[in-house]
This record gives sequence, C-alpha cells and structure tokens, in this order.
Amino acid sequence: MGLKPEISELQEELTSWRRELHMHPELAFEEEKTSDFVAMKLEEFGLEVHRGLAHTGVVGILKSGNESGASIGLRADMDALPLAEETNLPYASRVEQKMHACGHDGHTTMLLGAAMHLSEHKNFDGTVYFIFQPAEESAGGGEVMVKEGLFDLFPMDAVYGMHNWPGMPVGEIAVRSGPVMAASDTFFVTVTGKGGHAAMPHLGIDTVVVSAQIVSALQTISSRIADPADPVVVSVTQIHGGDATNIIPEQVELAGTARSFSAATREMIEPMMRRIINGICQAHGASAEITYERGYPATINSDLETDHAAQAASRLLGPDNVRRDKGPSMGSEDFAYMLEKKPGSYIWLGAGEDRAQLHSPHYDFNDEILPIGVGYWSALVEDQLPKAS
Ligand SMILES: [Zn+2]
Ligand SMILES: [Zn+2]
Repeated sequence: MGLKPEISELQEELTSWRRELHMHPELAFEEEKTSDFVAMKLEEFGLEVHRGLAHTGVVGILKSGNESGASIGLRADMDALPLAEETNLPYASRVEQKMHACGHDGHTTMLLGAAMHLSEHKNFDGTVYFIFQPAEESAGGGEVMVKEGLFDLFPMDAVYGMHNWPGMPVGEIAVRSGPVMAASDTFFVTVTGKGGHAAMPHLGIDTVVVSAQIVSALQTISSRIADPADPVVVSVTQIHGGDATNIIPEQVELAGTARSFSAATREMIEPMMRRIINGICQAHGASAEITYERGYPATINSDLETDHAAQAASRLLGPDNVRRDKGPSMGSEDFAYMLEKKPGSYIWLGAGEDRAQLHSPHYDFNDEILPIGVGYWSALVEDQLPKAS
C-alpha cells in the first residue's frame, strides 16, 4: 500500500503543529496548554472529547458505522523533560529548563494527525479512542488514567502505543512480542559506621570502604545470582559521603536503579539487595537503612496484537522494513500500566540513524517521520476495524 498521498501531503501541517508544541513544553501533570491544543484540534475534527482523566489527560472518541462493535485505543504521551535545550533551532523551547527531548511533541502530533485523517475518511467500522496521556516520564500519568477509569469509561478491545527511536532508520518499524521495555525500580541506601580521623581508621568504622564493597557486590545480582538468560541491571548512580580528606564520614548515601523484565526476577532483586548490603555491613560492624521503591512495571506486548501491529506496519512500509528481531530495551515506559489491563502492542518508529539520543539536550524530533506515524495509526485502525464491504 505504501503511504497514502493524502497523508504525505500533511507533512507541512503536521510539522507546524509539532514545532508549536515543541516551543511550549510542559512537565508532568502540568500539560494545560498542550491538552488545550489537543482538545481544540480534536473538536475541530468533529470528535467527541473527554477531558480530566489524570488531570490533563484527553480522550478523543471517533465512531464510524456501528456494525462490528469493535473498538481500539491509540495512545500518545504529552509531557516534556526538565532539561535546558541546546539545539539552537529556530523552534527550540521557549521555556527555561523544559524541553521536549523525548519526542512526545511528535507522538502527540502523529496521533492528532491520525485523528484528522480518520475523521475525514472514516474508512473503518467501530470506535477509535485517541488517548493523550500526561506524565509519562516519571510520574506515571498512564497509571493514573487507568486508575481513574480509562478502560471503564472507554471499553476497548486493545490498546496500542509507539515511540520514536533515534538510531533506527527512517521508514523502519520495530515490533516485538513479549517484554519490550523493563520494569524500573529505585533504591536508596544509607550506610552508617563510625566517623573519625582518617589517619586512625582502626578507631572508626569506615563507611567509604563498606560502600565501595556494596557497589561491587551489588553487581553480582546480575552476574552471579540472576539467570543469565533473564536480564537484570542494578546500577548505583549516586554516592554521597565525606567533606574532607582527613575525616572518615559517619554516613555514606547510595542510590540507583534496578531494571528487569520477568516478574520473578523483579521480585528477587530487593531481598537479594538487602541480603548483600546487610551482610557486608554486618561484616564490618556498620549498619544500613534501605528503601526500595517499585516504579513502572515491564512493558509486555501480547502476541496477537503484536502480529496486528506488524501487519499494519508491513502494509505501510513493506515487510522488509518491519523488524521483528530488535531486542528489548532496559528503559521503561508507563504504557506498561495500560498493557497490564488490555492486550496491545508498543512499537518503535525509526527516527533516523544519525540523530541525537532521547533525553539529550541536542535531541531534535525528526519531522520527516510524522506522516509515517500517522500512516501507521491509520493502517492499524483500518486493519483492525475493517469496514464491511
Ligand atoms: Zn523519555
Ligand atoms: Zn518518551
């Protein structure tokens, strides 16, 4: 099929929406102007608009025909990151310390583009829910929408998500069954020993030496404890302790993140971490206070809906441009909460090989892929909610 000419022609209009959103980034649960923009556009396209889920969430409802009773949810995220943009582009962020550095401005635009295209052509039979969620980056806006009744208010057969992916060529889509993004947990550790003179370590309990052993030993969770075929990452990302060269600090604070895919491995991390940390502390006469917080669960695509996603992508881009062999990412994604409740699939949309990474101050969403995203959403709806002929 390829990209329909009427979708390719949207390039300029989509780019202007995307850059407008890019100039005015808003952080988690503060997406007031963004959600106004989204709601205004959806109303313009003649959709029924529901607002207020998770504070700034927006759901657009588009019905066509009524024979099948089938329904589908398509989801985009709207939030930006607390980051100073360094691109110097003419449409760079106008807001200090806020930037759309993950491309959620592009995701929002592509879903709006699909709403526009599908509302004009109505080449499907059933109901499409366009879900615009706040706070993907860290505050779990997707979880809040689900808790506030997203799927009760809008019963849908399946839900789909996408993310632009720098490093993958434009015109490619990666689709994968099973876990695609990791569960993300956070830990904080305070090691307490006995501070004193650095020249008389025998009179104290050195929290720096104890902490160094903890950092090294925590790596054995992934290298020696977990099944090597079931990935897990434990990264200590912060060490704070000491203010002088001649004082052994009484306390050292450590913090970091743990990532995993399977529920069993995720359950194992916290007790193992406690055993290792407490064991090392006990060996040295120190003590530790450990806080372990569970964040986003793993994002797990269902098999059937992943085949549907691959089929739509293949119809749009040709089978050679649909990658089904790309490994999962240890990053995390709060679309996971939607996939815990509904079958569905989260795909990666190639954004170009030589592009700055997600979350970089040099990141620049590739506007070239906007029509491809619109084409994918539209193909998916037309495939899954076929019009009776
Ligand atoms: Zn991000
Ligand atoms: Zn993102």
